Order: sequence, then C-alpha cells, then structure tokens
Amino acid sequence: MSTAHPPAHAEIPPPAIEEVSPGVFAYVQLDGSWFLNNAGFITTGEGVIAIDTTGTEKRARAFDAALRKTTAKPVQALINTHSHADHTHGNFMFAPRTAIIAHELCREDVLRGSLAALRNAFPTADFGEIPYVPPMVTFEERLNVYAGDLRIELRFVGPAHTTNDVIAWIPERKVLFSGDLVFNGGTPFAMAGSIGGWLDAIPVLRGLGAETIVPGHGAICGPSALDDVEAYLRFIDALARKGIAAGMEPYALARETDLGRFAHLSDPERIVGNLHRAYQELRGGPRGGPIDVPSVFAEMVAYNGGQPLRCLA
Ligand SMILES: [Zn+2]
Repeated sequence: MSTAHPPAHAEIPPPAIEEVSPGVFAYVQLDGSWFLNNAGFITTGEGVIAIDTTGTEKRARAFDAALRKTTAKPVQALINTHSHADHTHGNFMFAPRTAIIAHELCREDVLRGSLAALRNAFPTADFGEIPYVPPMVTFEERLNVYAGDLRIELRFVGPAHTTNDVIAWIPERKVLFSGDLVFNGGTPFAMAGSIGGWLDAIPVLRGLGAETIVPGHGAICGPSALDDVEAYLRFIDALARKGIAAGMEPYALARETDLGRFAHLSDPERIVGNLHRAYQELRGGPRGGPIDVPSVFAEMVAYNGGQPLRCLA
C-alpha cells in the first residue's frame, strides 16, 4: 500500500502555459493526478491547432480562456490523443467550428462515454455540464496536420494506455505530445489498454528522438521519462506472472505488493487495474479487450482504504 502523502487542493499550482518551442505551447495541470491532464496548442499566422482538452466544464473554460489570451486566431483543428474524459470533455468548447481529429476507436469510445458513471467513480470531482462531442475526422494509422508550414505527425500507437492512443510528433522541433503514453510522476494506467502493447510502443516513441515530451500528465520532461514508464510496466508484467503462478487474484496481489521505487508515484491504486489488464493478457485475452470497469474501480477504492479516489479536478 502507498505511504505517499498527496497534496491537498490548496497546494496544487494553477494550470500554466509553457512555450516549449516557438509557437508550440503546453497547458500543464499539476500535479497530474486523476483528471489533471495536460493539453497544448500550436499557433501560426493563420490559426491554431489544439491538442487535447480538459476534464471538467470549469477547466475546459479555463483552457479556452488561456488559449484565447495567447492568440485570437481561429482554432482550425483539435486533436484528441485518446478517448479518456479528461482529454476529450472539453471538446464542446471547440464545436462546431473546429475539426476534431482522433483515431476511429476514440470516436466510438467518446460516443459510449457516461458522465453518470464518472460521477459515480469520482464523487468528489465537479464535472459541471459536459455535452459530449465526438471527433468528426478519424483515421487508423497516420495523419499529418499542418500548423502553417509546421508538420504535426499523428501516429496510432495503441492499444497501449487505451485502445486508441495517438501521439502528435513535431519532427522539426523534436517535440512530442505523448498523450497518456507518458505519465510523469504519476502511476501509468493500462486498465483500458494493453501492458504488452504499451511496452511495444515505448521503443517506437524512443526512436523518434524527441528532446521535449509534453506528457499526458505531469511536468514537461525529456525522453528519460519513457524509461520510468517502461520500468513500471515491466514491474507489473513480472508481478502478474508471479501472481498467476501463485494462484492469486489481482486485488489480493496488489494489496500485498510493496511498490518499492514506484511508491512515490501519485494514484498508486492503479496497480489494481493494471494487474487486471496484465492477467487478462497473460491468460490469452486480446490487447485492449473489454474489461469490467465498475468492478475494477470498486477494487481500486477498496485498495484506497474504502475512500473515494483522490481527485483534485
Ligand atoms: Zn488517459
């Protein structure tokens, strides 16, 4: 079990905009825990390409206001790196004047989304009113989007964190928007994706030669953050193999596991979801196959001492 003492609301900084390369901005919401994700945008003389949104109505409006303080140009396109609510809930702020782009499976997942289920899983979060707006332009493997002359390469790298992960790579600037393939300072979460697929994606990301990574959660980082994610996923994989051999179910295994070097990561209860995913794969299940999300979340709450999962959104 975790021995970390997470900060309270008052201790987290407000969202911040950081220009990681000329005209390329990250919108960083620390401390990167549940629903505190990062977004970004690229400005040109003609317009703006945005990457991801935020998870509550209030935060979606704050992201829009911050973007608008930086540029008055129209937002031509919005890229969703994946379907999770923290990255897509703010789509409504951009519709209908902006082309929202994502993987085909992202669209399907957003259309299946349920605010009621999220409110049940995160009772302390104030989601506000969120009209669900799915991506309207979808692709399967690759798509290039141009911010003026600057090429943004979208590549499907899932199933990994979800079934529909897309990275946004800007080769000319060596800047990578990794989506939730990188959690910096938080526990990677593979429940909705694939441990094996994520491990396969890490060397692909490493091979890009990025100098700057805007992770899905946590502070802006360099490529060494990939090593940390990989180490955690290998830890989960090895643990699951031992657990299966010992005849232990994921929750019991999670409870008795010493997180060791990973104990400082936020949201440690994700180990339960990660082990469920690892077990499913090791038992021959398909990567990204369906999983009983409500029951896994109930076990994560139990792991958390029966308390609602800490969510500062
Ligand atoms: Zn996510």
